[in-house]
Amino acid sequence: MKYRFLLFDADCTLLDFPADMTQAFHRMYAAQFAAQRPFQPELLDCYEACNNRAWARFERGECAKGQLYISRFVEFLAQTGLSGDPEAVNASYFEALAQTGTPYPGAVELLRELYGSFQLYMITNGNVVSQMPRLRHAGLAEYFQEVFVSEAVGVGKPDKRYFDYVADHIPGFRAAEALVIGDSPSSDVQGAINAGLDSLWYDPPGLNHTRPQRFTYRAETYGGILEILRNV
Ligand SMILES: [Mg+2]
Repeated sequence: MKYRFLLFDADCTLLDFPADMTQAFHRMYAAQFAAQRPFQPELLDCYEACNNRAWARFERGECAKGQLYISRFVEFLAQTGLSGDPEAVNASYFEALAQTGTPYPGAVELLRELYGSFQLYMITNGNVVSQMPRLRHAGLAEYFQEVFVSEAVGVGKPDKRYFDYVADHIPGFRAAEALVIGDSPSSDVQGAINAGLDSLWYDPPGLNHTRPQRFTYRAETYGGILEILRNV
């Protein structure tokens, strides 16, 4: 077998982030803003846009993780005219997010199938407060030898320094035997390129990512991931 170390992304690869985010946003909104204005779907759209822009700034190295979290709510408050303290709103959102954890159908079965044949590690840019509880709620945590949350590392994907940290903390790690598996061209696939690792771009229908320029493998389904891993 070519690979021994599988480095899995979490959100939009194994965890249904849109479902969890929507649930957490609703809960946060009820606690923070419902008294000011009843919920409307446009508010969630607005938050998502602010959040995506903040993540893009972070992935381009233009801001630190802490700034990313706060700035998305600073922008959300400015655009909606709602009043609140961005830090408190963010804390409320994380608290709500930590109560979620929705695996995609087949995610647990995929890990169960791989467990034992491969060493599974999680590489995630999620936050320290909510990511571990979400993985536990989803029934995914037990399959991973270690979960590397970028916030705890101090730097995130796609930065090479994040992958250097991961490599340094996996016993017996060899780059030639490691495969990055994730949905995001900008953080997972680009991170693998930066770190000199092979990548399996998980590209399920509907995520609408721009095709990365370079990747080692591509799969649209969990079955496709298994097939590649069985044949290389
Ligand atoms: Mg992802």
